[in-house]
Amino acid sequence: MELLEKLAILADAAKYDVACTSSGAKRSNTADDTLGNAVRGGICHSFTADGRCVSLLKILLSNNCAYNCEYCVNRKSNDIKRAAFTPREAAYLTMEFYKRNYIEGLFLSSAVIGSPDNTMELIIKTVKLLREDLGFNGYIHIKAIPGTDRKLIEKAGNLVDRMSVNVELPSRKSLLLLAPEKKPEDVFRPMKLIYEGISEEGKAVKRRFVPAGQSTQMIIGATPDTDHDILGLSEKLYGSYKLKRVFYSAYIPVVQSSKLPVVIRPELRREHRLYQADWLLRFYGFKVNELLDARSRDLNMDLDPKCDWAIRNLSFFPVEVNTADYLELLRVPGIGINSARKIIQARRTHRLDFDNLKKMRVVMKRAKYFITCNGRMQKGLRFEQEYVKTSLLLSENSLYEQLSIFGDHGNGV
Ligand code: SF4
Repeated sequence: MELLEKLAILADAAKYDVACTSSGAKRSNTADDTLGNAVRGGICHSFTADGRCVSLLKILLSNNCAYNCEYCVNRKSNDIKRAAFTPREAAYLTMEFYKRNYIEGLFLSSAVIGSPDNTMELIIKTVKLLREDLGFNGYIHIKAIPGTDRKLIEKAGNLVDRMSVNVELPSRKSLLLLAPEKKPEDVFRPMKLIYEGISEEGKAVKRRFVPAGQSTQMIIGATPDTDHDILGLSEKLYGSYKLKRVFYSAYIPVVQSSKLPVVIRPELRREHRLYQADWLLRFYGFKVNELLDARSRDLNMDLDPKCDWAIRNLSFFPVEVNTADYLELLRVPGIGINSARKIIQARRTHRLDFDNLKKMRVVMKRAKYFITCNGRMQKGLRFEQEYVKTSLLLSENSLYEQLSIFGDHGNGV
């Protein structure tokens, strides 16, 4: 098989991994006076540890899988065209793309080629060729295959910038049902090893072990797991293994299976709400049990999780912006990390009013229901649960209406 044909197959097969998120558009260049093409798979964008956005060549080493996960296009029993790069081919492609300035790095994953260890050895061989033989110093993100031996994780971690092990499904029960060849321990053991390697690196300055940290991905909507289950697991992973990111991917049916739900439209709004809630866990000091409880195990699709929490906890409000501490300010819908910092900074020199807040880019259409400035709420507002809820719902709906001009889903709001 020609190298370019392999590239088409293995770049397309990699597009379901959302750890790199920008693949997806296909547009050919037909007119003479235009520049550039967009292809569905292949090049994607990711963010390095220092916040830079880099273009990555996103490929699988092979799509010929020994496993049979029900939801996966590459599963053993699926009748698709199979291809595999040799490590030399994958390294060569990376170098050639890099020299032409198409990419700044590589995102390399793979189906299970015989066994997890064999797959990981081939991935390591590719990365070693790049780093040691070809002198490639660009960004490399690889997938660690669940069930891989400890020594191979250690070897790989010393060569790459980021490593991720995909959880895929948030509970043992779901994993047993849809991916019976993977056990939760096969996923969490490598994650723990990566975490330990990163912690060790902090002590031994000479070594650089996975400097951009680790991430994972969960599929949403393929199983009955609730948002509480999903976010509960994310909270544990952020806490125990210091993950940089958990990615959520709305389940898209690509294979027939009686074990999978019938999905007409992927749950993109739910995926978006999970990202919003995840943000609250990582940066706003929220806990899963505050956002969801025994009665509501799933996020409210009509309101963002912070507004939803605020309406259920009106006794916490109003917050006086001239005296509240940083964490209290962060609880206010419409006040983000930057505006909370600006408020704390500015009030060292003067008391703040509503105009000051607008200039600090506080989103007043949300914040106004939950704050006071110098002891007063904004004129004409009522501090009542139903009134606040209806007003916020109206503003949220108009936001989604505006977004529908650009596409029919709520991603990237
Ligand atoms: S192991 Fe990975 S590539 Fe193989 S079938 Fe399962 S999800 Fe797909």
